[in-house]
Formats: sequence, C-alpha cells, structure tokens
Amino acid sequence: MNWVAELDKWAADYLPDMRIAEEEPMAKHISFRVGGPARRMAFPESGEQMVLLLSFARECGARPLVIGSGTNLLAPDGGLDRLVIVAAGLRRVEAGPEPDTVLAEAGAPLAQTADFACGQGLTGLEFAHGIPGTVGGAVYMNAGAYGGEMAQVIQSVSVLFPEEGVRLISGGEMAFSYRHSLLMDCPEAVVLHAVFRLSPGDPVVIREKMRELMARRKAGQPLEYPSAGSTFKRPEGHYAGTLIEQCGLKGLTVGGAQVSEKHAGFLINRGGASCEDVLELVRQVQERVLAETGVRLEPEVRILDVE
Ligand SMILES: Cc1cc2nc3c(=O)[nH]c(=O)nc-3n(C[C@H](O)[C@H](O)[C@H](O)COP(=O)(O)OP(=O)(O)OC[C@H]3O[C@@H](n4cnc5c(N)ncnc54)[C@H](O)[C@@H]3O)c2cc1C
Repeated sequence: MNWVAELDKWAADYLPDMRIAEEEPMAKHISFRVGGPARRMAFPESGEQMVLLLSFARECGARPLVIGSGTNLLAPDGGLDRLVIVAAGLRRVEAGPEPDTVLAEAGAPLAQTADFACGQGLTGLEFAHGIPGTVGGAVYMNAGAYGGEMAQVIQSVSVLFPEEGVRLISGGEMAFSYRHSLLMDCPEAVVLHAVFRLSPGDPVVIREKMRELMARRKAGQPLEYPSAGSTFKRPEGHYAGTLIEQCGLKGLTVGGAQVSEKHAGFLINRGGASCEDVLELVRQVQERVLAETGVRLEPEVRILDVE
C-alpha cells in the first residue's frame, strides 16, 4: 500500500473526527497565494491528535510538514507529495505556569497571544502583535520586528522530536540568532507550545504601543497584496529593501510577481503569480544586487523543495 492509502485508512480508524483534505491547494494556506496541491492536508485540533498523527505519518512514509499561517513560505507549483499538517487548530492561549508568563499552543496567532498578554497586564509581546504568523512559526523563525524578537521573550518551548519524544527546551537552549533557531537544524522537530516570560505593564500603554506599531506597518508595507513579508534577510550592515531600491529594482516584474513599489524589501503577488515567477524574481534581484553592490541577499522566506 502507498503512504496515501495507508494514511487514509489509519486516520479513518484512529482519528475519524480529524479533517483531512485531499489534493488541497497550498496557495489557499500560504499568504503569497502560490503553490500546487498537497497530496493530503490534515487539521489536528489538539496536541494529542498532532502527536498521534505525526508518529503514524513518519511510520508510513508521508514525510509530514507542519505549517502555521504559511506567512513565510513558498510552495512549488507542482504541489507536494507529502502530508502537510496545519497547526492552526492548536490555538489555546492561557496564563503560564509561573507569574508573568503566558502559555500559547503552536497554532495560536501571535496577534491573539499578544492581545492576551495585554489583557493580563503583561508587556513584552507588543513587537509581535502585527506579525501575521503563529507561535510555532515564530519560534521556528525567531521572528522579530521593531527591536524585539522571540529570543527575548521565550522562556521554554515544548518540542516533539522524532526519536526522543516531547522535550521542554529552555529559551537559552533554542540556539536563537537572527531569523534562526535550533529547529532549523532539526527539520522533523515540531513545536507543540511555548511559554513566554513577560513583565508587568499598563494595558493602556501596551495597547497604544501595539496600535502605533500596526500603523507603522500599514504606512510602510504593501499589506494590500499577498506576500511573505520581507523576502530577504537583513544583510550584515545593510537593509535589503534599501539595497534593492538603490539598484532601481522597485517595480521589477516577472509574470504576476513584482518588487513592491511601496517597500522594495517585499516581493508581492500582483495577481496570478506562480511560485516559479516569484523564484525567478528572487534570482533576478539577487543577481542585480550582487553585481551592483557586492552584497549577496539570502531569502528569509522558506522555499519548499519539489521532492
Ligand atoms: C505582511 C507580512 C509581514 C511580516 N512581517 C514580519 C515581521 O515583521 N517579522 C518577522 O520576523 N516576520 C514577518 N513576516 C513573516 C512571517 O509572518 C513570520 O516569519 C512568522 O513567524 C511565520 O509564522 P507562520 O505561522 O506563518 O509560519 P509558516 O510560514 O507556516 O512556517 C514557517 C516555517 O516554520 C515552520 N513551522 C511552522 N509551525 C511549526 C511548528 N509548530 N513546529 C515546527 N515548525 C513549524 C514551517 O515548517 C516553516 O519552515 C511577515 C509576513 C507577512 C506576510
């Protein structure tokens, strides 16, 4: 039996209530709105379902891939012959195990987590409020903005490793650095939940800070178009957007993909872009910036390979 048939049979027997979609377009689950169908896409609604599903998926060769909101992903036009697991159903956010902490499941949106912290009178997550990802994706990426990043607020992360099972990893052990975490070196590890260590603060001041940062985003970023945010990492000593703009690349277009006129660090989908359009635009931008400035731009967006 192939992995699809094995998975379908197992899921019907052991997780009959969990939704599994067939040939589900990745474009529907990725903010760039590109990507062909995933052979199977599962939507677990609890940590228990996630753990069970992952262990069977590995056994039957489904090569599971866990995603959050898909806001930092590019999926191939030809689709993915694997099981994609959307963590969005694991979205519990509650007071953490110690004072001034918040516990959030992997699929909880950062906005919801920051709102909860604000409601508890806890400051520290304001920077994350406008990042459109989930807690799992943010921990994986060490997401950050406006001087804050996950590394500063993560106390611990509950991670499921394929061989060892679930382990509680402290923030210090997460090997966080700029847009990097331990998880990037353990591609099969999955975040189940995270505990944030925050500080007491005035909810009115916290709310005002979140509003101010959101207004800055709206003013400076092309939020009206599908994208994955900043496409490239910040090169040492530079800003990717500034370099791209200096090279005169604003508005450069390949098919439906374009370097945003509003913020050159964002590649956007002007409508009908394919993943190949975006990848070709990435290549052209990298080539021109390298030739004209000597700086090599590295994608921040995670590019899922055709396998
Ligand atoms: C308009 C816009 C603005 C943005 N602004 C910012 C910003 O200011 N700062 C910033 O850092 N980023 C920004 N981003 C990028 C993106 O929102 C962040 O990187 C975010 O953390 C990704 O979270 P996600 O849930 O969407 O992850 P996904 O895109 O779904 O996944 C990203 C990676 O994380 C992995 N992953 C996801 N969940 C788990 C899990 N539970 N366990 C293990 N691995 C997992 C995936 O496999 C993938 O490799 C922006 C994106 C957009 C579209």
